Amino acid sequence: MASKTETTPVGEREQVEKSPQVVEEAKREAALTGAPQPGQRAEVTNLEIVHHYFNLAADRLGLGEDVRTVFWEPYREVTVQIPVRLSDGKIHVFSGYRIQHNGARGPYKGGVRFHPEVDIDEVRALASLMTWKTAVAGIPYGGAKGGVNCPADKLKHHEVQKIARSFLDKIEKVLGPTRDIPAPDVNTNAQVMAWFMDEYGKLHGHTPAICTGKPISLEGSYGREAATGRGCVYMFREAAPHLGMTPSETTFAVQGYGNVGSWAARIMQQLGCRMVAASDADGAIRNDAGIDANGLEEFIRQGGQMPAYDGAEAIEPAELLEVPCDVFIPAALGGMIHRGNADRMQCRVIIEGANSPTTPAADEILNQKGVYVIPDVMANAGGVVCSYFEWVQNLQHFRWDEREVNDKLGNIMRRAYREVSARAKAESLPLREAAYLVGIERVVEAAQTRGYI
Ligand code: NAD
Repeated sequence: MASKTETTPVGEREQVEKSPQVVEEAKREAALTGAPQPGQRAEVTNLEIVHHYFNLAADRLGLGEDVRTVFWEPYREVTVQIPVRLSDGKIHVFSGYRIQHNGARGPYKGGVRFHPEVDIDEVRALASLMTWKTAVAGIPYGGAKGGVNCPADKLKHHEVQKIARSFLDKIEKVLGPTRDIPAPDVNTNAQVMAWFMDEYGKLHGHTPAICTGKPISLEGSYGREAATGRGCVYMFREAAPHLGMTPSETTFAVQGYGNVGSWAARIMQQLGCRMVAASDADGAIRNDAGIDANGLEEFIRQGGQMPAYDGAEAIEPAELLEVPCDVFIPAALGGMIHRGNADRMQCRVIIEGANSPTTPAADEILNQKGVYVIPDVMANAGGVVCSYFEWVQNLQHFRWDEREVNDKLGNIMRRAYREVSARAKAESLPLREAAYLVGIERVVEAAQTRGYI
């Protein structure tokens, strides 16, 4: 963990490059020559990334060391052991985490990730990002995150079910509709949420508001599945007029064609934009004349491997970032845009569908290149905003239609964009720094007003 003495001095953006934290990152990134291959991660951790941005904002806000300490560490961390006998007949022992970062503004909220690279520091980082994200969106939640270090995408359906139920059983004491409400993240989905709800219901009675991102048939919300991708597109729609961009003349590329990436692509295409490249864990493709976002989603859903998609040329995953396009949407894992590849990017705008896809050093390079980065803490809030709607509907046992959900989502995303961009303009800051300022200010105010600090 980086120490607070590595904080970048107030207002001195050029010193970001020189701070010990970033110098250290540079050393580690020097080993990297391109984007991480599937299964590999950039060397700077998500925790270092969110701490770096927290420090920048805390400096600017003049937060004292005592106040910082409260937000530097999570409020509660639960680590559990999940032994599961898999189809190979052996017992595999996975680790599960639920980290509740801060609950000043409401119940803890955040997804659960099933991925072999999950570790406690990553979950800590993602939990704190949720605290700032819910505050930037102005919805009444704190921040949390969960994860199990299992290779869910390689496991059988019943094996994932065993892990999901066992994880839920072991953390249920810190959950509850007014305490902590999980949701899907990487390699978890509506089915996993259905198992969570069922398992929680065995102990507490039917409680749909215990998690969000559930199937429509089990009190999920219309629009939830597409919400994060749709939220990214609302960001594009807000930013485009100021950047002189029109959808019919806009090209885009997507890194990570899962839930967030494929929905963002399909909705961008509905607007009239053209997808020229995409990637997932299997590889990358490119076609300057356009790749049909719906066709690609269908192909992958049917079990197709991205590089084999008809109608596009397979390229090396590292080349994806170099494809000329107007908008680049990272929607895979953290740290994938880094010092080793940021300079080669040829886009005008980045909309961060993924959490922490850009390292601080890469962010500096992109700012210098004039790339307009719409940061994760605001850009991918659509998922948690729609989760909030699902929770509200569940608490009322009432369902809104999809149009109502999408309209309300648009209102909140537009408000977040306008508030953050106004702050960025007023203080001559990149959007990311402005978003952290807005989020941290709101959380600190809530914590102080409640008397928590
Ligand atoms: P997902 O599992 O549905 O999709 C992840 C995609 O990334 C898959 O297509 C996978 O093949 C791809 N991928 C993995 N490694 C890759 C690599 N090395 N190169 C290229 N692609 C790779 O997950 P998701 O829910 O779409 O989440 C994606 C990102 O968005 C994560 O960072 C997550 O934290 C963030 N996010 C998700 C939500 C949500 O509502 N699902 C909300 C906010 C943020």
